[in-house]
Amino acid sequence: MKIEASFVTSATGASGFPKDGLAEIAIVGRSNVGKSSLINALVRQRIARTAAAPGKTRLANVYRVAHPSTARGGAAPFYLVDLPGYGFARGGSGGFDELASEVFSRSPAALLLVDLRHPGLESDRAAWEWVSGAAAEAAVVATKIDKLARGERIRAMRQLESVFDASVLPVSAVTGEGLDELWNLIDSLVNRRNNLPPRHNSQRLPKPTARSQGQPPREPTRQPRRQKK
Ligand code: GDP
Repeated sequence: MKIEASFVTSATGASGFPKDGLAEIAIVGRSNVGKSSLINALVRQRIARTAAAPGKTRLANVYRVAHPSTARGGAAPFYLVDLPGYGFARGGSGGFDELASEVFSRSPAALLLVDLRHPGLESDRAAWEWVSGAAAEAAVVATKIDKLARGERIRAMRQLESVFDASVLPVSAVTGEGLDELWNLIDSLVNRRNNLPPRHNSQRLPKPTARSQGQPPREPTRQPRRQKK
């Protein structure tokens, strides 16, 4: 079963985004965390450019993706929105940059990618605080798990789950571990968005409420149970 995936646009702001109202999933993480590699591994095609010039481009790359198993009854396409690697540590305010703020004003679901080898970095914690408050749904994904031996993985995963107070999905773009589970997670995010009542299922979802933007961050998305084949 072929996954359909194509590059749509590089946008400097939300005004450049597609306006057809498909679900959006923002991919957030530090430069070099493995965003492009994970996108390519997920769609089994090389659509995202890897490690070109970390942190240089301030563009959101939008990809249209449809997985044959996505959504009951057919392939519901959605947009993966690859945001530039962030620099929370430098910003100091704990805020997100303008581009991310615009993207998140569209209430996408979001995946925060963190490197399993560096659990609990201050910049990642600040990102999670922001993302889990601003996204409609948010989950943490640990990348590059193939770089750690089994025991180290378990220790790092425990550390991550305690730091983020959320379940964390471990993946490797190199070995493909965790990708089925990631598809299930994406599937549930897209379905939840598509199953919203029509009033909310418009091209622009309402902005996050004051409550969802404030602290503490909302309960993050739990990893869904595996779907029956
Ligand atoms: P981005 O800046 O977040 O888009 O990161 P990239 O996808 O460009 O990856 C940064 C570096 O990490 C590259 O050298 C990748 O080959 C490497 N990398 C990414 N994902 C993995 C992974 O799952 N396992 C291993 N071993 N290396 C990875």
